[in-house]
Amino acid sequence: MTWSAVGPEWVLGTTANGAVYGYCNVCGAESGATNEDGLYAFADAHSEHTSSPDFVGLGDAVTPSFTALGKLLGLQHCTPCERRRLMLNSLAPRLWRR
Ligand SMILES: [Zn+2]
Repeated sequence: MTWSAVGPEWVLGTTANGAVYGYCNVCGAESGATNEDGLYAFADAHSEHTSSPDFVGLGDAVTPSFTALGKLLGLQHCTPCERRRLMLNSLAPRLWRR
């Protein structure tokens, strides 16, 4: 079974037994058996995990490497941190304006 990114890079899709399946790497949701349209709708729904370019989300605010110091030090997001950031951003995407 080969998974490939659909829309946002964290939404993966695959085909099995003539049906299409989607999986979200951020919240762990599965689309269940669907078709291509269903998969794109699923990807669309889960693209909301990103924070807005205009607003700081809750996930951004609690991520150390989001801070100026973190950026200066060139800290990288680890995968669990990135997942948390995306999840929290999806809960509260607009804490304040950037
Ligand atoms: Zn999701």
